[in-house]
Amino acid sequence: MFVGHYGPALAGPRFVKAVPVWALCVAVQFLDYLWGAFVYFGIEHVRIEPGFTAVSPLDLYHMPWTHSLLMALVWSVVLGFVWSLIARSQKRAGGILIGVAVFSHWLVDLLVHVPDLALWPGGPKVGFGLWNNAPIALTLEFGVLAAGLLLYVSATKAKGAFGKISPWIFGVLLVALYSVSFFQPPPATAQEFGPMAILSYTLVAVLAWLLCDRVREAK
Ligand SMILES: [Zn+2]
Repeated sequence: MFVGHYGPALAGPRFVKAVPVWALCVAVQFLDYLWGAFVYFGIEHVRIEPGFTAVSPLDLYHMPWTHSLLMALVWSVVLGFVWSLIARSQKRAGGILIGVAVFSHWLVDLLVHVPDLALWPGGPKVGFGLWNNAPIALTLEFGVLAAGLLLYVSATKAKGAFGKISPWIFGVLLVALYSVSFFQPPPATAQEFGPMAILSYTLVAVLAWLLCDRVREAK
């Protein structure tokens, strides 16, 4: 999933006001940030198989260190702890929200991935495989994003006129980015997916700062 991951990120300010959306956007993709780096450096592996699932051509056959349940929990605790050190004023709640956001990635992946998510490195693999059903996968993807946007808009208020429409612009840009990636041919080598993913997730975090954090505030 790509844009569906941002639903939980946008819902965050509904629960802990002080955590910025850009940080939550990094958190919900943190496992994929690591995956991007690990794939690039050959620690984890992916193959491009056109038609592998209806929605994604990636055969994610080896990602024990970023996408096993055990390691997802470990990374959630690590990033939550780091955030609570960086953002001391948010006390423990900020760190917990960031940790939950990191773990939400695994839960959302569990719905759409074919069984490629190990329970622990080398352990049995799980995945409900909704990527094999494009209408359901895409409805879920956009539905979760829309629900997150609604929660975000209801939990915050605009600082000026632009802030009234900017979260919706953010939503539209996410869908546009997703559509471009959907119809673009995959890169020549699977290794290139790593830096590409990291770049696009960072772009989304910058957009979140521009269109959410800078122009809206907690109610
Ligand atoms: Zn992932």
